[in-house]
Amino acid sequence: MTPDDRIYAYSAVLMGSPILLKLFEHDESLASRIFRLIKLQEITFTVNRPHSDIMAINHAAGRDPVTVSAPVFELIRRAKAISCLPDSSFNFTIGPLVKRWKIGFSGHSIPAAEDLQALLALTHPQDVILDESARSVFLQKAGMEIDLGAIAKGYIADVVRDALREAQVENALINLGGNVQTLGAGAEGAWGIGLKKPFADADTLIGVIGVTGKSVVTSGVYERYFELDGHCYHHILDPKTGYPLDNELLSVTIISQDSIDGDIWTTLLYGMGVEKSLAYLPQIPHIEAIFVTRDGQIIVSSQRQFTFTPLDDSYQITT
Ligand code: ADP
Ligand code: MG
Ligand code: MG
Repeated sequence: MTPDDRIYAYSAVLMGSPILLKLFEHDESLASRIFRLIKLQEITFTVNRPHSDIMAINHAAGRDPVTVSAPVFELIRRAKAISCLPDSSFNFTIGPLVKRWKIGFSGHSIPAAEDLQALLALTHPQDVILDESARSVFLQKAGMEIDLGAIAKGYIADVVRDALREAQVENALINLGGNVQTLGAGAEGAWGIGLKKPFADADTLIGVIGVTGKSVVTSGVYERYFELDGHCYHHILDPKTGYPLDNELLSVTIISQDSIDGDIWTTLLYGMGVEKSLAYLPQIPHIEAIFVTRDGQIIVSSQRQFTFTPLDDSYQITT
């Protein structure tokens, strides 16, 4: 029996992404329970369908505060706090810009500069008024839109991990389209998470990240983008300019305990770039990062919670 023979893989397409669940026991009913749980979370947090708690808030922008459930309020409170950090490249009120660009969806186009200026005025996180006692969320200006796309998958990955733990599962992996969360060590002493080669097909890897009970989140410019006149417009927008963030990075991977941190920090470090990130990371020891740059480097910040095995000689590895 090879180690992988002991692993049962279940898959589904949810939240517009392929979802993979790996268990060490054949348990169809647990797998469907987990997929139902993810679906429920999706219904709560998405902006890609007409009805969700988030859409209710967006529809009432400039008009009414909307009372939401405690978990939704908590996630929004967290998203606002990160968005309001000085120089933060994470902005959960980026919705109007995301909707205008439609990057990764049909109908994408480059907005006129003056359109971007007008939309930027609708993306101030301080204009989201939270009332703790009423548990309500109010977008002060008509046209404002919350988008939790940069944090929700991480949050949901942690919800799944907690549900698996509660079901006494000790060894499992959930992959929510790029957000991986694990319990235990897999079949070979650590779960091996592939680091994709930018712009290659999904199975081409440039390295493998080994983790035990940790989260691995990658955000790459090659995940959703469109090309026009030789320029690549990808889906992580710069809240200052309204254009896709432009620097030396092709992807940022975060290894952390909680996947929500991985999701948040991929966006924050993407905005900081390699040099600033490497200077900043020692202050947050629970967050570790792997950067892949346009000029073919893989830069590993530290390796306390994971191992990294390079698979592609054409990349220069810096540790
Ligand atoms: P993915 O997991 O799809 O790579 P990320 O976690 O990097 O995504 O989040 C990207 C998504 O977050 C975008 O598709 C958009 O919905 C939203 N978004 C884009 N730019 C920002 C930003 N600067 N801050 C917060 N959310 C953003
Ligand atoms: Mg993210
Ligand atoms: Mg993400």
